[in-house]
Amino acid sequence: MATTAPAPADRDAATQGSPAPGPGVDAVAEVARRLLRDQDVITDRTRLRTYECDGLAHYRVTPALVVVPDDAAQVAAIVAACAEHGVPYVARGSGTGLSGGALPHAEGVLLVTSKMRTIHEIRRADQRAVVDPGVINLDVTKATTPEGYYYAPDPSSQQICSIGGNVAENSGGAHCLKYGFTTNHVTGAEFVTPTGETVALGGDAPDSPGYDLLGAVVGSEGTLGVVTTVTVKLTRLPEEVRTLLVGFETTDQAGAATSAIISAGIVPAAIEMMDALAIEAAEAATRCGYPDGAGAVLVIELDGSADDVAAEYDDVERLCAENGSFEQRLATDPAERALIWKGRKSAFAAVGRISPDYIVQDGVIPRTALPEVLSRIAELSSSSGVRVANVFHAGDGNLHPLVLFDDAEDGAAEAAEEVSGAILDLCIEHGGSITGEHGVGMDKAKYMPRMYTDEDLDTMQMVRCAFDPSGISNPGKVFPTPRLCGEVPGRHKGPHPLAAAGLADVF
Ligand SMILES: Cc1cc2nc3c(=O)[nH]c(=O)nc-3n(C[C@H](O)[C@H](O)[C@H](O)COP(=O)(O)OP(=O)(O)OC[C@H]3O[C@@H](n4cnc5c(N)ncnc54)[C@H](O)[C@@H]3O)c2cc1C
Repeated sequence: MATTAPAPADRDAATQGSPAPGPGVDAVAEVARRLLRDQDVITDRTRLRTYECDGLAHYRVTPALVVVPDDAAQVAAIVAACAEHGVPYVARGSGTGLSGGALPHAEGVLLVTSKMRTIHEIRRADQRAVVDPGVINLDVTKATTPEGYYYAPDPSSQQICSIGGNVAENSGGAHCLKYGFTTNHVTGAEFVTPTGETVALGGDAPDSPGYDLLGAVVGSEGTLGVVTTVTVKLTRLPEEVRTLLVGFETTDQAGAATSAIISAGIVPAAIEMMDALAIEAAEAATRCGYPDGAGAVLVIELDGSADDVAAEYDDVERLCAENGSFEQRLATDPAERALIWKGRKSAFAAVGRISPDYIVQDGVIPRTALPEVLSRIAELSSSSGVRVANVFHAGDGNLHPLVLFDDAEDGAAEAAEEVSGAILDLCIEHGGSITGEHGVGMDKAKYMPRMYTDEDLDTMQMVRCAFDPSGISNPGKVFPTPRLCGEVPGRHKGPHPLAAAGLADVF
């Protein structure tokens, strides 16, 4: 699991111990006990602590109650009880999130979907599958491969993360360059609103008339309600796949090769980049055999019909050579392909081999800004003395700088956090964003005002309030200054500008 360390003040804010559960929590526990097996209603403090963090392990909060329901009806009943008693709740899938989205609420309920793992339907002719939220991402592919299909969004955590978590985070992965993010692969969801009502959003069709409420829910990080069933698109397995490992002396050359490939009209299934420090870590952990002495490698995957792949492959080889590659290695069998990907997909965890602690950053920039931003990151690193390893989805400009430090050294966590924030500023400055796929969660709420105005943030919160008038669904996440819906927006002297214009109501 990735180790990250927020600045001490943030840590303290999130790490307070749980008060004794209030009467509201007791009432919800009572409802849960009537519906679930004893072992699935957790109040014992030692067991509660198992759930105190997600992949952002330095934020820890012990929840007041954990429930592990079997089905959607139980979820709806528990959420309805939370609504009746004003108890906050947080949904949790596999707990691999890297932004603290599933961090529990100290006075609330953690609703864990790990027992909801049924794949209800696989409809080959419709290219759809209907799955429970706790189903593991890779299991959808495993279940559909014999039918000639797979589930395209592939976070590096795909062996453990859940489809519900993917929907909440609008997760991406190496192959999202060509195939799009989770939002492009979900056509419908059954959803429990924060009042406990079960509603259907979308369906089998690629689009539904009216407001795109499904689109609002995908990526909403559990703040609008709990997804209880997901209808996903299945993608046909390609006729041919070629995976190419390319070594360059510098990240500039690898960045230029990436731009040249995309500018030539080729859309590979994936273009992933790792710099020297990330390669060193991956080698130490996986012996992946990346080119010796490389300052950067690209992992380029082409898929499609055999003819198309052959033609694109020739162009990609040429463009990499023209941009300075010194080694190109095509995977000749599935084992070699798997090893190339193992190096890349293990990179976050592998960094633990070269640094005791690190922050996994997640920012986005336009692809063309890659050389400039990478060299600015290198400057930040050398001026601060904080090492930064870069491993990222180069094709879509989604950076994952890994900011390395040793928490045992005084001030090291603060210095790393400062570099980390400065990298996000660079992303914004270059027309990008503070998160590409890991979400805002608890961790990045403080950065939202760097990207959005107060008015933007208030407008977003009005959408949230339309779903969750009492503010009980994953409170404290995404927004830096959360407010309940009945409150007049504090930052404005008068009503919100949209309300004043008669375009929206505060309720
Ligand atoms: C090693 C590693 C590699 C990773 N690589 C990638 C990557 O390549 N791409 C990427 O996008 N992410 C990546 N991640 C981040 C993480 O795996 C994804 O965000 C993933 O989607 C989280 O799924 P989860 O089931 O673990 O969700 P959790 O961590 O349990 O929850 C994440 C968020 O979803 C909400 N949630 C969970 N279930 C539901 C539900 N049923 N209804 C409503 N809200 C819900 C939670 O409240 C929380 O806000 C990586 C993480 C690790 C540890």
